[in-house]
Amino acid sequence: MSVADGLVRDGSVPGDRASSPGSAPIPRGLRGLGSGMGKKERWNGRFWFLTMLAIGLAGGCGDAPAPKGPSEGHKSIRLALGTVVTISTWGLEPTREEAAVERAFAEIERIEAMMSPNRSESELSRINDAPRGQWLQASPELVDLLGRALEIQRLSGGAFHPGLLPLVRLWGFSREPAPREPPSPESIDRWRRLADSGDGILIDAAAGRVQLTNAAFGLDLGAIAKGYAIDQAVAVLRREGVDNAIVSGGGDLRLIGAKGREPWVIGLRHPREEGGVIRVSRLSGDRAMMTSGDYERFFMHAGVRFHHILDPATGYPSVSGVISVSVQATDSTLGDALSTAIFVLGRERGIRLLEHFPGCEALIIEEGMKIWQSAGFVAAPHLTESIGVTD
Ligand code: AMP
Ligand code: MG
Repeated sequence: MSVADGLVRDGSVPGDRASSPGSAPIPRGLRGLGSGMGKKERWNGRFWFLTMLAIGLAGGCGDAPAPKGPSEGHKSIRLALGTVVTISTWGLEPTREEAAVERAFAEIERIEAMMSPNRSESELSRINDAPRGQWLQASPELVDLLGRALEIQRLSGGAFHPGLLPLVRLWGFSREPAPREPPSPESIDRWRRLADSGDGILIDAAAGRVQLTNAAFGLDLGAIAKGYAIDQAVAVLRREGVDNAIVSGGGDLRLIGAKGREPWVIGLRHPREEGGVIRVSRLSGDRAMMTSGDYERFFMHAGVRFHHILDPATGYPSVSGVISVSVQATDSTLGDALSTAIFVLGRERGIRLLEHFPGCEALIIEEGMKIWQSAGFVAAPHLTESIGVTD
């Protein structure tokens, strides 16, 4: 399960049907899921709380019915990448939009089948299951993405690490049911000693090969592959002639174009108030918005919050003081990796990392709801009360 943070507001044109409270059309797919979502579904007439849908969904998928006119837009919702993926398109003839969206979802599914560490037949699992210290042929696409991941690992001084699968499994955040207590300190010490004993991942890009060198490491692209899948889906949409769209995975998203004559409007989730919105971004053109937060997957134990973003230096959930990082970036792959890296690095070192990436902006929330926003981060404060969100 993954929890979303960038929430797509459906209906940004003043006076259009979706923006007037109570009158917004709810796609059939959502209605059909009915009680599966239970109280997790939030509909306040102005925002779609995709986050809540992700939590409550037990299964199934659905597409919005095709609108009659191209300007009304089209929204499709599926389960993929361990969350709810939504593709909204605007302004193209409906049958072409539908075909394009279908291909974009197929692309997302292709990437998931290749890069999921939890599917035994994925390419990632083939590499993870092989003996350590052995070069393995890998597809150029995977080698490329790993190359990008290793670059962020290097620039972040190891705070971002694409090889944490054994540690992630030790913590068990992707287990169902979710764990209720941390692993033993001994097991984490054992992992750390093994991790300290050698490098993790080698790539030989020219030969298209990958090598895992140490049993402490196995590929887990959970902090970057969702962004990559979103980017690839956007590329497919563009190839199919779609100029205006949002592809959102849980709530991490990339948008292109605009919603008619208005920008797309994105609500940024409040990290401590369920259903709350802390900022609203009005964006158009080509922008990704990716968030890492300690509220996405976590459990409380003895009054301590144990969350899913791990500090490779300690083997424990990161305690940098950051509780949420949103990155606006030129692409989702980069935004995804950077938000995780900044989360682990903490505010000061995170800002220094950001300086390597012109065109990327961040909003960092620290404990106590201290908010830092880089100059170019497009977001306006938003009063939760003013849109009437209640639990
Ligand atoms: P995100 O929500 O994008 O920050 O990604 C978190 C996911 O990435 C976790 O569920 C793990 O699968 C993995 N992960 C956890 N800690 C790290 C880390 N320090 N660097 C890279 N990936 C991580
Ligand atoms: Mg990430």
